[in-house]
Amino acid sequence: MSEAIKKIALLGSTGSIGQQTLQVVRALPHRFKIVGLAAGNNIDLLTEQINEFRPRFVYYQDREAQLHPTSGEYEFLSLEEIARHHQVDTVVIATPGKSGLSPTLAAVKAGKNIALANKESLVMAGEIITNEAKLNKTQILPIDSEHSAIWQCLRGETQPPTRIILTASGGPFLHYSPAQLNRVTVKQALKHPSWQMGRKVTIDSATLLNKGLEIIEAHWLFSLPFENINVLIHPQSIIHSMVEFTDGSVKAQLSHPDMRLPIQYALSYPERLPNPQLSRLNWSQVNNLILEPPDLDAFPCLRLAIEAGEKGGTCPAVLCAAGEVAVELFLAQRIKFTEIADLIEQALAQHQAITRPSLDEILAADAWTRQKVKEFAAGDTPC
Ligand code: MG
Repeated sequence: MSEAIKKIALLGSTGSIGQQTLQVVRALPHRFKIVGLAAGNNIDLLTEQINEFRPRFVYYQDREAQLHPTSGEYEFLSLEEIARHHQVDTVVIATPGKSGLSPTLAAVKAGKNIALANKESLVMAGEIITNEAKLNKTQILPIDSEHSAIWQCLRGETQPPTRIILTASGGPFLHYSPAQLNRVTVKQALKHPSWQMGRKVTIDSATLLNKGLEIIEAHWLFSLPFENINVLIHPQSIIHSMVEFTDGSVKAQLSHPDMRLPIQYALSYPERLPNPQLSRLNWSQVNNLILEPPDLDAFPCLRLAIEAGEKGGTCPAVLCAAGEVAVELFLAQRIKFTEIADLIEQALAQHQAITRPSLDEILAADAWTRQKVKEFAAGDTPC
């Protein structure tokens, strides 16, 4: 019986994954305790969270801002200090984009259990992180729903899979033509048909860049070559991914599209826990599950991501950074939806890739890309 309470540090507590992680902890207080909270700039929500969960360690980006929790005492630490703290069992990394990289590395080196929601850190520095994880016997437990599905399918197997099939909802613009995509608005792109997620990943889901990043993430998590990682569009988001084995048998993991399930599994692993928040599939309503190949012409971000992943080196870091800046520009209505892919393509085309890069070389590629993409966008006439 392992009924001990797991001590959890949650980095990125005010974002979508962060808030859903706290819902899971709230439902299972006899199993999980929050000891660290870290957030960006949403001071009001962080203050509420401190009052409710009384963490021992806190980080927030804007140190000038005044937090006024009404209860509890905490120590202010950096993201990295929280990630490697000896009082922490599991670190949930739910900070957005590049900001997840440094705390992920700190947690990996400290041999913590890592519940990883931040895919960018693996995309940017997959080789460094997975090598360090092996060295330090660190377990990386994926929160991304597709990777959680694959991980669940692989449990109990003694041989590696022959193929992974990542499912993708297809986002709000499934079956749109390139001409239609040229006219879509920010509001339309933020309306995801099946998942509740943060703004960046919702836009990435609409361009299919998210699926491309997930291919690279799967490559590192499950040590499979890119040609053995495929994508199928599955608009209902019930099948979260599938794994094929050497005898042709295929396993899948199914559930309602609710991020709290993969979050909870990463926290409770190797156990499964009952949680009344998680609803069951109603089989009288689940019918005609659709699976179809993606349209790489209409959604070039997926193709660009596969190419960047195959090239490797600093290319995936360029992909990530270009995607981040391009999505910010789109959300600010400075570029069209279809220009997100154009900017990523331009950045990858101009980048001088470095193979087996150091962390500094990855960060330099990231900085170069951010600057370049802003220059490319400034050169265009605003839409
Ligand atoms: Mg996902």
